[in-house]
Amino acid sequence: MNIINQLRAICPDRPLTDSEARSIAERQATQLLKLTSVDSPAVPSGIITELPRVAVDYTPGLASSGATMWTGGRWLIQLKAEDHPLRQRFSLAHELKHVIDHPYIDHLYQPDRYTSVAERAETICDYFAACLLMPRGWVKLAYGSGIQQPTELARLFGVSRQAILVRLTQLGLIEPAARCPGPLDPGDTPKVLRRYRRPAALAPAGAL
Ligand SMILES: [Zn+2]
Repeated sequence: MNIINQLRAICPDRPLTDSEARSIAERQATQLLKLTSVDSPAVPSGIITELPRVAVDYTPGLASSGATMWTGGRWLIQLKAEDHPLRQRFSLAHELKHVIDHPYIDHLYQPDRYTSVAERAETICDYFAACLLMPRGWVKLAYGSGIQQPTELARLFGVSRQAILVRLTQLGLIEPAARCPGPLDPGDTPKVLRRYRRPAALAPAGAL
């Protein structure tokens, strides 16, 4: 059985909960590393580009960072030529998950009130890419050995600083970045209100 089919065999052919989908994505990533005998960072992109029936094209002006199609008897993964090489690496791993999921894609991920099927698939493909390029055990080992600076970890794993920050958060090694600074001291209030005040013409009387 070829590698892609071995990875597909890990996934049950039925709708998955979000936690099941994440767990399966991680198992598939781990299995790909095992099947290609990669056991330390940085994971070489060749484990994807050298898969049989997979071709990669760096396409100028691509509307998204990556796209995948079955054409001419093989999977063609297109990566945006203008993207940074580290982003292309992550997109390549993300696109591989689309390839793996293809036979089940019409029913694997279920929409809910807030998330469409396509959005759910995108999130899981990103998660797969993170698991493949930054395996849980390797990141924890590196972090535990004292390599804790995001820039240093990003270099070790061959990913962007943003990607390693997301992974460190997923693994509970750092706190999620706050969306806003949180409650302010009363003394700061006038300054902040001034900063976010809407233009007078748009603000209803007494709004601020
Ligand atoms: Zn995608």
